[in-house]
Amino acid sequence: MSIFTQTYNKTLRYTTLGKFFGLATVGLTTLALTACNQSNQTAQAPNAEKSETASVATTNTGEKITAYTSTNVWGSIIQAVGGENVDVVIAVNDASQDPHDYQATAQDKLNISKAKLVLVNGGGYDDWATSLAKSVDNKPVIINAVDLSGLKPADEHEHEDKHEHEHEHKKDHDHAHHHHHGDFNEHVFFSLDTAKKVAEAVANQLANSDPTHKATYEQNAKDFIGKINALQTTAKMVGNGKNINAFATEPVIGYLLDDMGIKNITPTAYIEQSETDAGVSVKVLNDTKTLLQNKQAQVLIVNAQTEDATSKQLVEIAKNTGVPTVSVYETFPTGVNNYIDFMTKTIDDFAKAVHNTPATASIATASTAIASTASSTK
Ligand SMILES: [Zn+2]
Repeated sequence: MSIFTQTYNKTLRYTTLGKFFGLATVGLTTLALTACNQSNQTAQAPNAEKSETASVATTNTGEKITAYTSTNVWGSIIQAVGGENVDVVIAVNDASQDPHDYQATAQDKLNISKAKLVLVNGGGYDDWATSLAKSVDNKPVIINAVDLSGLKPADEHEHEDKHEHEHEHKKDHDHAHHHHHGDFNEHVFFSLDTAKKVAEAVANQLANSDPTHKATYEQNAKDFIGKINALQTTAKMVGNGKNINAFATEPVIGYLLDDMGIKNITPTAYIEQSETDAGVSVKVLNDTKTLLQNKQAQVLIVNAQTEDATSKQLVEIAKNTGVPTVSVYETFPTGVNNYIDFMTKTIDDFAKAVHNTPATASIATASTAIASTASSTK
């Protein structure tokens, strides 16, 4: 059985469960509405409450280590390594919340003050979490995924303060989705190599805090890394010698495109202009439309969490010219609740799009290799 078949079955089940738990969470969220969130915008309040319910749901026995992180994507990696010995508190759990726009609450500070470990994305993605972790009396260990990734050029670190300042300045009046800090793509959670490094770092830190379970953390990290290795093999097969070009309205999954062997041909002008308040100029937008109309791009990638008029236009053109669109996410979409399933779903969506057949069928020729890799890591 291929890894895709297994994932499909799982995904179907999660969809049903996700709906059930989704409803349950809404109930809890309403009950948990607290005064400390009153100053926040309505759109952001549910996340603070969810992080609260998350910590309540896994009651601390006094034995468990509390870890805090910004998004459920990172949270699931801590959970995979820490298992039942760790309580993971997550700020952004809601698929409708753009993590870039998240504004920390008093509850976040309280949660961080109780944490031994704080995992941040870094690179300007969730600077609030780093600031809070440095501000509390009970200093947690901070793991910074961007720093660990080794993907960020050294010279871009120097400019970070300046960019952070710009970010802060814009926050209050601008809801644009700011990604860029120089040319660096900070979405390192789509870097499978980085996920492995983070799992290792989390295992080390948990073992430091809780030496009794050192072997468990190491084994869990090893299992997780084995699954990522299998995913990397699967990913390679998507673009495998097929010369696939993609147009992406945002740089979100750049690292995974590299793993899949899909070339990103998004014009630099589009990338730069899309990050400005003015948006993409008519000329650049027309050039982009041509890329889709001529099918120079064989797949269109949009961020499902930040759809706007421009991306909707491009989706419409892609639809009319028969170019498949793949939606990507920065936190788990409905029905997905762990990192491996998140990456598998994303890779699977691309396989379906570019092969124009269900992934299980299109990858069938290579399924023996996938199955052996997958089973060797179980
Ligand atoms: Zn983003």
